[in-house]
Amino acid sequence: MLIFNKKSELSAFLSPFIDQHKSIGFVPTMGALHQGHLSLLEKSLAENDITVMSIFVNPTQFNNAEDLDKYPRTLEEDIKKMSQLSHSIIVYAPEISDIYEGNTVSESFEYDGLEHQMEGRHRPGHFDGVGTIVKRLFEVVKPATAYFGEKDFQQLQIVKKLVDKHALPVNIIGCPIYREKSGLAMSSRNERLSMNARKKAAIVFEILQLAKKTFSEKSISDTIAFVKTEFEKHPEFELEYFEITDEATLLSADSKVSNQKYRGFIAVFIEKIRLIDNISLN
Ligand code: AMP
Repeated sequence: MLIFNKKSELSAFLSPFIDQHKSIGFVPTMGALHQGHLSLLEKSLAENDITVMSIFVNPTQFNNAEDLDKYPRTLEEDIKKMSQLSHSIIVYAPEISDIYEGNTVSESFEYDGLEHQMEGRHRPGHFDGVGTIVKRLFEVVKPATAYFGEKDFQQLQIVKKLVDKHALPVNIIGCPIYREKSGLAMSSRNERLSMNARKKAAIVFEILQLAKKTFSEKSISDTIAFVKTEFEKHPEFELEYFEITDEATLLSADSKVSNQKYRGFIAVFIEKIRLIDNISLN
């Protein structure tokens, strides 16, 4: 496995392959790899000549200093997990200075309003940080295809918008949410939960599934009320939001329109750890 810390060295390595029109698949991550990340990697390995995975905890997309500070960093373990999958993965694990060159701030992005919904509203500046890192990584790696998880569905839509608006020559593929046996969406932040909280967190997906059933029988406002009531029964959780939106615009929906695709999005805290998940409702 080849591991690069410097973008100049990574670019120099990849450049002959790009000249030979080899397809580069790219999986950007913040590390602390789990099976969800590896499922993206497997897809890229199957579909491309070369697969690059980046591991970089991007400071500009964190709006909470404690979250950034406590974000798990497990590079050695991550490399072991990758090498169990394939030895041909190219890893880019830079220092902050290699990406930000002494100026660790975001650029500003405009995503036709997608950035003002849900995660954007609750995590000010988050999607500027995401846009900044994704665009810079695309410029270095020059992938033909990049893989993103539906776990961060809003991020996936935002990256598609970024690519459209900046005419970046990258095909964006969304990949299904990988879950623990309990149904809990895999996340690097799950590592920070106590055993007990991790067990309890299975409720998040259970409630999302019940919300889907409720949505099929009742109105949008009834479905939202149902989710709120369910979480009131579990005071160890603090529900930050549950929203039902049009899948394409991510605008909150208040009544159902036929042939429209809807999705439910949730953010909850347990033990001060913020978990997000989402579900297709129809
Ligand atoms: P992260 O390291 O959390 O920034 O995630 C890196 C990529 O992996 C993003 O595209 C995520 O959406 C994706 N990802 C994270 N968790 C999962 C999961 N449980 N299932 C599928 N993809 C995931």
